[in-house]
Amino acid sequence: MLVDLHVHLRGTLLRDTVISLAKRNNVSIPASVISASRYGWHDFPSFLKSYDLITSVVKSANDLEQVAASYLQRCSMLGGSYVEFMLSPPDLARTGVPFFDQLRALQAAADQASQEWGVHSRLIATAVRHLGPSAAIEAARMATSMRSDILVGFGLTGDENQHSVGDFAEAFRIARSEGLKATAHAGEHCPAETVIEAIEILNLDRVGHGVRAAESPNVMRQIASARIPLEVCLSSNLALGLYPTIAAHPIGRLANAGCVIALGTDDPSFFDTDLSQEYALAQTAGSHLSNHIINKNAIEAAFCDERTKAALAARLNK
Ligand SMILES: [Zn+2]
Repeated sequence: MLVDLHVHLRGTLLRDTVISLAKRNNVSIPASVISASRYGWHDFPSFLKSYDLITSVVKSANDLEQVAASYLQRCSMLGGSYVEFMLSPPDLARTGVPFFDQLRALQAAADQASQEWGVHSRLIATAVRHLGPSAAIEAARMATSMRSDILVGFGLTGDENQHSVGDFAEAFRIARSEGLKATAHAGEHCPAETVIEAIEILNLDRVGHGVRAAESPNVMRQIASARIPLEVCLSSNLALGLYPTIAAHPIGRLANAGCVIALGTDDPSFFDTDLSQEYALAQTAGSHLSNHIINKNAIEAAFCDERTKAALAARLNK
């Protein structure tokens, strides 16, 4: 079994799906972008631009259901058992898909995946950091406006260099007050200390990436002793140039320091990866982390209910 704890739903869009949704929804995407390797981006700003362009083909609840079900089916073929998707509710609400319909679409995909392919899934509603604190509060209000079994967490994605983490405290307070678990991208593009800052200010249960914690023994010690899991996305880190090679990736040092490591694919279609490749990479990174340990960490770190966790643990230990 394999677990994907960090994947942006629309980052899973395959080329064929982009083409068919663009046609269905009358969205014009330059052929050169669609056919380019990794959709033609070359650095973080151009990645964000390419991401916005490619993901603009998703317009309806049906599209959302199709994209989610497609990814869950692919995960099941790779041995996946559990996925937590990230999606920013206001993005699609702006294109005319109310949050209720987004939830219903993702629940339908999740039901199909658990019944037909044995893959469980949940949703983390996210705010986008570079859109600023007011938009984050809007995302938190939308996320907490209705209850759903599938919605389990609130997260912060986007450009870490924009705004200070404290600007998002209110959004996380709103989300947590309604029982949502919390994760935020930190320590990916910014230094080690920002991981502790995000954990403390946003009251995080997990950290998205957090790999730059490895630059500070003191930060690694604090994360390890607090047992705050890191959602490590190896191919993403390599593709975005955080580390030149997998041998240079700090996953091994983080694990040796006692940090709790889980894995994610991040935006697999933009980073040319999949779930099994991430687990294989972790083995080649000199981390001494077995798949069993990573999965055990991931199940404990998952935001789902205890019953689902117990079912996953039983599958792991079979
Ligand atoms: Zn991410």
